[in-house]
Amino acid sequence: MRLTALCALLAFSSSLAAQRATPQPADLIVTNARIYTVDDSHPFVSAMAVRDGRVQFVGSAREALLLRGASTRVIDAAGQTVIPGMVDAHGHLFELGAGLRNIDLTDTRSFDEIVARVAARIKDTPANRWVLGRGWDQNKWGDTRFPTHEALSRISPNNPVVLERVDGHAILANAAAMRAASVTAATQAPAGGRIERDANGQPTGVFVDNAMGLVQHALPQMSHDDMRTATLAAIAEANRYGLVGMHDAGEPREIIDVFEELAKAGTFSLRAYVMISDDSGTIEHYFQRGPQSALYDGHLWIRTIKLYADGALGSRGAALLDPYADDPKNVGLLKSTPQHLQDVSTRALQHGFQVATHAIGDRGNRVALDAYEGALKSVPTVDHRFRIEHVQILDHADVPRFAQLGVIPSMQAVHQASDMYWAPARLGYARTFGAYAWRSLLNTGVIIPNGSDVPVERVNPLYSFHAAVSRQDDSSWPPGGWFPEQKMTRDEALKGMTIWPAYAAFQETLTGSLTPGKYADFVILDRDIMTIPDAEILGARVFATYISGRAVFERSR
Ligand SMILES: [Zn+2]
Repeated sequence: MRLTALCALLAFSSSLAAQRATPQPADLIVTNARIYTVDDSHPFVSAMAVRDGRVQFVGSAREALLLRGASTRVIDAAGQTVIPGMVDAHGHLFELGAGLRNIDLTDTRSFDEIVARVAARIKDTPANRWVLGRGWDQNKWGDTRFPTHEALSRISPNNPVVLERVDGHAILANAAAMRAASVTAATQAPAGGRIERDANGQPTGVFVDNAMGLVQHALPQMSHDDMRTATLAAIAEANRYGLVGMHDAGEPREIIDVFEELAKAGTFSLRAYVMISDDSGTIEHYFQRGPQSALYDGHLWIRTIKLYADGALGSRGAALLDPYADDPKNVGLLKSTPQHLQDVSTRALQHGFQVATHAIGDRGNRVALDAYEGALKSVPTVDHRFRIEHVQILDHADVPRFAQLGVIPSMQAVHQASDMYWAPARLGYARTFGAYAWRSLLNTGVIIPNGSDVPVERVNPLYSFHAAVSRQDDSSWPPGGWFPEQKMTRDEALKGMTIWPAYAAFQETLTGSLTPGKYADFVILDRDIMTIPDAEILGARVFATYISGRAVFERSR
């Protein structure tokens, strides 16, 4: 017995010595690549080695190949570009998956087109089954007023139809849907919501922000299996576009449970940093459990509370300090009271949780900053990494407060490219100087994790990368960019989808750059997005996406 133990000990120490002399062979070596590591100590290299799911080495091919063993896979990247796996710092993973089953209206250019698309779907839909769609945007139509339900009610008298606006902050329901939800002229909007009405006080079918629930509560529930299927479909879609991670901007308990179940089973090929929706029971549950980091080999984090300060600009729900330029009696709406934001933030600090608050208008942002400031006064915390999501319109005086308070502005650059056509009409010219102003913020010393807000925008993270550096839409309009002095550099934009999201999620020691010891999460692209002209960025294609050194997506060539 004792002898066996001694032998084992000797064998162990001699293997340690061997390890020191010859390093363990790599599982994977990538050579002949243009690798942007996002690690300042070796920013640009040509080769990389991976072992046990982690980056083992970055540098030259000659050195990397010293790690080649009998079973090492070697990939000659043929001069292609490698970057760290991309992360969407603000998306809605489950909605992405659920939306893949619904009518996609994002490319429609008129209300007639939307009605025609719904009519086509109704033809193959059993009677009384709900028909859902998403992506309408009246700002793209000739008549930019909100639509009304009549045309949808005519083509679909029996099937309830609910169509979400592109920003998720308003819905259009037909008569059957309003009937199913028992909405009548007598129905009152809850605080933080609005029911659009005609001259006779009848609901027109459009429900804004907190009023959406008046109809949505009647939607049939998805089964647990449907939720699993939708989640897996969303992950596959994300991997196709080079995403290895997503910060999911708010999910209820039952969806977080689905994520956890899939992650536990090892079928969740994404690092999900999921925020907990603002629901007191759910928040209490997770406070009791405590902050959860890097669960199931770094696939799930549950340590952030998502709050809402205001609504969105497109539906005039964003809270402004002065009225809308195109609606002089309207200053938008606060979806939560300032006291609520501060109370939840205070309790989050006491429990070691982060808070991420949706704020779009200048008043929404000020209210969120004030709430954070108050919470931090009562529970001083050095490393809180509180975030504000969107930060679209800022009053000049609030720009430096992010750096002062240590609050991270989490922005989605592509919103600028989508909103620039009509935002000045909502805001007036003077206020647009503080809109989507990422350069002004960067100059104060903060970082800006970038995101898509999918399904509000497309899942492909290169849309936000492109908008960040060009301030243009996908047809390179306007020439030179919209308020071009606010552009990011390519380096900043690359950080915005790699190391900055990692930092905003307390993950920077595990991921966000190709640094030895971190997860081997990377993407192979068919062109060098760091050097090609702006106009070519959106043509870049992902060849392969790797998580922990394993391909989760490979394009068939
Ligand atoms: Zn969002």
